[in-house]
Amino acid sequence: MRVGVIGAGIAGLTAAVSLARRGCEVTVFYIGDVRESNSYRIQAGIALPLLEGDSIELHVMDTIHAGRYLSNEEAVWATVSRAGEAYDFLVSLGVNFESVELEGGHTMPRVFSIRNETGKYLVDALHRAAVESGVGLTDALVTSLIIEGGRCLGFVDSGGREYYYDAVIVASGGYTGLYKYTAGSKHNLGLVTGDYLLKGGVCTNLEFIQFHPTGYLSKKGEVLLISESVRGRGAKLVNSEGRRFVNELAPRDVVARAIYKEMSSGREVYLDARSVQDFRKYFPLIAEFLEADGINPLKDLIPVVPVAHYSIGGIMTDTFYRTPVKNLYAIGEAADTGFHGANRLASNSALECVVSGLEVARTVLRERPSLSSRSRGTTFEPADVSEDELNALRDIMWRYVGINRCEEGLRKALTLVEGLEVPKQIRELATAVIKCALERKESRGAHYRTDYPLMNGMYGSRSKYSRGKCYI
Ligand SMILES: Cc1cc2nc3c(=O)[nH]c(=O)nc-3n(C[C@H](O)[C@H](O)[C@H](O)COP(=O)(O)OP(=O)(O)OC[C@H]3O[C@@H](n4cnc5c(N)ncnc54)[C@H](O)[C@@H]3O)c2cc1C
Repeated sequence: MRVGVIGAGIAGLTAAVSLARRGCEVTVFYIGDVRESNSYRIQAGIALPLLEGDSIELHVMDTIHAGRYLSNEEAVWATVSRAGEAYDFLVSLGVNFESVELEGGHTMPRVFSIRNETGKYLVDALHRAAVESGVGLTDALVTSLIIEGGRCLGFVDSGGREYYYDAVIVASGGYTGLYKYTAGSKHNLGLVTGDYLLKGGVCTNLEFIQFHPTGYLSKKGEVLLISESVRGRGAKLVNSEGRRFVNELAPRDVVARAIYKEMSSGREVYLDARSVQDFRKYFPLIAEFLEADGINPLKDLIPVVPVAHYSIGGIMTDTFYRTPVKNLYAIGEAADTGFHGANRLASNSALECVVSGLEVARTVLRERPSLSSRSRGTTFEPADVSEDELNALRDIMWRYVGINRCEEGLRKALTLVEGLEVPKQIRELATAVIKCALERKESRGAHYRTDYPLMNGMYGSRSKYSRGKCYI
């Protein structure tokens, strides 16, 4: 069986290794370099409820609570209960976890970590295993899926080249690259997800974008994430008057909004990590980055701002990572099973990436999809990206579809996005995010409406977006 995987993050590589080890011919597509993914940037680690005193049930409850009761409980139980398998898989590749950390929203320390650079070790181990298993690796920008008669036959790249496979797995990550400030890869524009929408596909929960409370904007304009584990180890948030204003270990949306409120009132916000023991030992990457920018975390306060961090919504799948389109599967941040609900619990995405990669491999092997025909004329959607237009889009999304939203701003964003000359796929996805944010007339988890500041039981289900309309 020939399988094409779009994306070389943790999700795509896990699926590729699992399938190749069981005899499939697998090719993974990615942009630029395997190390450019968001997976490589993972700092804190992977949430696994495996230490004594912890339990699957506690982890499930923390996930559902952080997700503001919008999670698909079946997906939460299915994902969390596969944590042991995810751990064994990673360890079998030579991953050697060094510590277990406490992060915001977790009732137990359960974030398995390696020097706060966990992603680097996970991706390197997976990449090595992929090469050893004979997985093909191709640098190409996928712009269009080939979907005919409810069946996926393959995809097309930006040069118009067609690739045909028995099964296609979308593992192309999220769409935080649509925002002005993100510590993630600018490649994560949701091009494939937008193309799927253009072809009548269904996405869920697109309005939920998680903003990480503590990004650091360097003097050169780069964004570094100051991981939650720094707060887990005792760092405090203070405003420019030296006052604390939030519980640092509250869920991310609460902390991000509290910081945003301080900033909107004209006060700057700092992370005070001076009391954190062994800062350099636990956070070498952060220390190095800050020191290069003239900040000594042992002596200085660290200025912080919220940044777009994680796309909760994505391509709708069931808990076996099947989409309604035959032979098409989606995993990792590109997919939405409903696991995260309205807000992602810290370090649950790495867990989801490994679990979904392992599970989709089993699904594909069980279903043994096969390529029935070649295309009768591909629907090639070019994706020439003008950086200026893209930056205009990022500005609109940041300003009107960011941490605080309201009807007036969202309607303005809709009109502005319509006039931009960005690739069709990207415009479709941005429009879908805005329409879903408009439709959800309540505040829940990562979605905050200043005109509807309370949670409303009438909106207690996942939003579905298809063919230009959002349904809740
Ligand atoms: C700074 C930072 C720190 C984080 N820390 C944590 C953490 O501690 N714990 C945690 O659980 N999560 C963390 N996250 C979130 C986590 O990194 C992601 O959710 C996760 O890595 C997503 O993995 P993925 O495999 O789905 O996709 P990604 O890692 O985003 O990879 C996407 C892949 O798809 C490829 N791609 C995209 N579009 C196309 C296209 N059109 N054609 C071809 N290829 C394409 C990319 O090149 C890339 O290879 C962090 C995120 C950031 C940004």
